[in-house]
Amino acid sequence: MTYAFKQTFLLASKYSIKAPYTMVPQFITVHNTANDATAAKEIEYMINNNNQVSYHVAVDDKEVIQAIPFNRNAWHCGDGGGSTDPNAQKKGNRISIGVEICYSKSGGVRYGVAEENAVQYIAKLLKQYGWGIERVKKHQDWNGKYCPHRILAENRWDSFLKRIEEAMKPMEIGKPTEKDDDTMKFTSTTAKAAVRDYIQQAVDKKVIDKSWLEKFDNGTMTSGDFEGLKIIIAQRSN
Ligand SMILES: [Zn+2]
Repeated sequence: MTYAFKQTFLLASKYSIKAPYTMVPQFITVHNTANDATAAKEIEYMINNNNQVSYHVAVDDKEVIQAIPFNRNAWHCGDGGGSTDPNAQKKGNRISIGVEICYSKSGGVRYGVAEENAVQYIAKLLKQYGWGIERVKKHQDWNGKYCPHRILAENRWDSFLKRIEEAMKPMEIGKPTEKDDDTMKFTSTTAKAAVRDYIQQAVDKKVIDKSWLEKFDNGTMTSGDFEGLKIIIAQRSN
């Protein structure tokens, strides 16, 4: 686990504005915030204003924060009062859990790590509910809005879903994964050398700063850092 999970709940007195209906969730809807606020700021702003705009969860590079219980709806899909009928077209606002991925405006490593945290968290939710990957929707699926804008602009929706599926696979038995220490582990020196080479090449091409190589060499790079780094390298290599 690379993120801390927190709950900062919307006051029930605001349910009538932001979460008026009870909900039996059937889908997860992915968004990009299109700004550079932290998850805490994003949630603080949402729960304190009186707009009919809301979502259940915001994710950044450090935290996953839930603000609305999953048995209440939220207004994040732009498809109006919609329907709770699973066969209806407009149902995002009524039966989907809204997840906002932070820092999408500027992108960069912190966005990459936030996105990877969202991958891990969504995988966990799917497993909890016993759902398959088909339950994960983009905001665009509900009302056509270009959201999550960064994932769409970088043409990574399919690979985003693949990463979630990958994260849902059971841990290999005997792997020491349940430790606080999330620094990268390698099965062989060849595997380690290959990753180092990949980072070195990106540094040589001035795609990333050489401090990343130092971080790798001194053994403090986490799996989350590396997932973020891969996204940055892919983005800047295009
Ligand atoms: Zn959205």
